[in-house]
Amino acid sequence: MGTKGIEIVGMDVKKLIGLLNKAFSDEWLAYYQYWIGAKVVKGPMKEAVIAELVQHAADELRHSEMLALRIIQLGGTPVTKPEDWYKHSECGYAAPDDPFVKAILDQNIKGEQCAIKTYKKLVDLTSGKDPVTYNIVLQILQDEVEHEEDLQAELEDLETLLSQFKKGR
Ligand code: MG
Ligand code: FE
Ligand code: FE
Repeated sequence: MGTKGIEIVGMDVKKLIGLLNKAFSDEWLAYYQYWIGAKVVKGPMKEAVIAELVQHAADELRHSEMLALRIIQLGGTPVTKPEDWYKHSECGYAAPDDPFVKAILDQNIKGEQCAIKTYKKLVDLTSGKDPVTYNIVLQILQDEVEHEEDLQAELEDLETLLSQFKKGR
């Protein structure tokens, strides 16, 4: 750890590491939720949804990497056991046991909305206090906002398709 790099952090570093480890645990669970969702998903527009899920899985994995590196820079240790992800997680894990596209989209939209809340809190907390962490959580927040929008756009297309089908067009 860099001593000067830590010295400039104008907040409780231990507490910050704890919050970053919660977000780190969320990211791994989100990564797996997308990854397995992309494998099991069924129904109309499946191909477009799979492409989105696969892309988001890669983003969540990249987020976990960004957080792990920052936790280590701050002198902490990223959560080392998958079983502990559940203990630390704020947003939890939703198993895609119903593989219908709409069910999977709904689950992941909820997950993104929780992630947006988490990163908005971290952005506010680090603003003006820890510019390095602030920059990281802001970048992640931007991605999560994009993720929510992407999934809601897919859901809208799906609902249009389903309603046209019901009208018999
Ligand atoms: Mg996307
Ligand atoms: Fe993420
Ligand atoms: Fe996301």
